Amino acid sequence: MRLSFLGTGAAGGVPLWGCDCPACQRAHADPHFVRRPNCALVEAGGVRLLLDAGVMDVTERFAPGALSAILLTHFHAAHVQGLFHWRWGIGALDVYAPHDSEGCADLYKHPGPLRFTHLTKFEPFEIGNIRITPVPLVHSKPTLGYCIEHDGTRLAYLTDSRELPPKTAEFLQSWQPHTICLDCTYPPGVTSARNHFDLPEALALSEAYPASQLVLMHIGHQLDAWLIDHPDALAGRVAVARDGAMLDIGAQC
Ligand SMILES: [Zn+2]
Ligand SMILES: [Zn+2]
Ligand SMILES: [Zn+2]
Repeated sequence: MRLSFLGTGAAGGVPLWGCDCPACQRAHADPHFVRRPNCALVEAGGVRLLLDAGVMDVTERFAPGALSAILLTHFHAAHVQGLFHWRWGIGALDVYAPHDSEGCADLYKHPGPLRFTHLTKFEPFEIGNIRITPVPLVHSKPTLGYCIEHDGTRLAYLTDSRELPPKTAEFLQSWQPHTICLDCTYPPGVTSARNHFDLPEALALSEAYPASQLVLMHIGHQLDAWLIDHPDALAGRVAVARDGAMLDIGAQC
């Protein structure tokens, strides 16, 4: 199973408009450090799934027929904004999403080719030979993480969330993912009300799942700036995703 990171930033991305912190300055100077809002592509067994649509040019990246379906974690704008152009298109594309009576703006009213299916937590379904179990997360909107399995290889894609609900943690303990991709928006020390994991919480989670490779994503500019100041903080314990990076899941086993 291959995961390609198309957007690894929190809402606003890096550089954040108008910010001149070291992380935003670095991203202005070197496109390698740019982070677009959340979006990833999973490919396995001939199936291609888009996870969220935070990047704005998704219709240019994926011609008709290039995707099997889209999985939406939730309806915050930074995760669905690429769909707004898509809905003017022609044809049909399945979009799986949590139950959310509001959705985002007028996506439900004018879906165009997007065919929304609302999922039930812990109720697995299949697309081709990929099995997907939606798991609930804790966020300011109804949000699902996706546990994706193909041929014994297991990926847990968990964003956005401020913690794991006990039943989701229990499911992951027995499911034993090879890789967990986790929302880690903030550095240590952000004390304001949060709807996302911070780095100490993400590192604690990696201790709870020692058999899983942990990859941090949904990174905010403050965390990038903190990592510039603390280059050895992760010391190989966890990986930090980058836009454009690819991950072969299960390949290390
Ligand atoms: Zn900044
Ligand atoms: Zn969100
Ligand atoms: Zn988000």
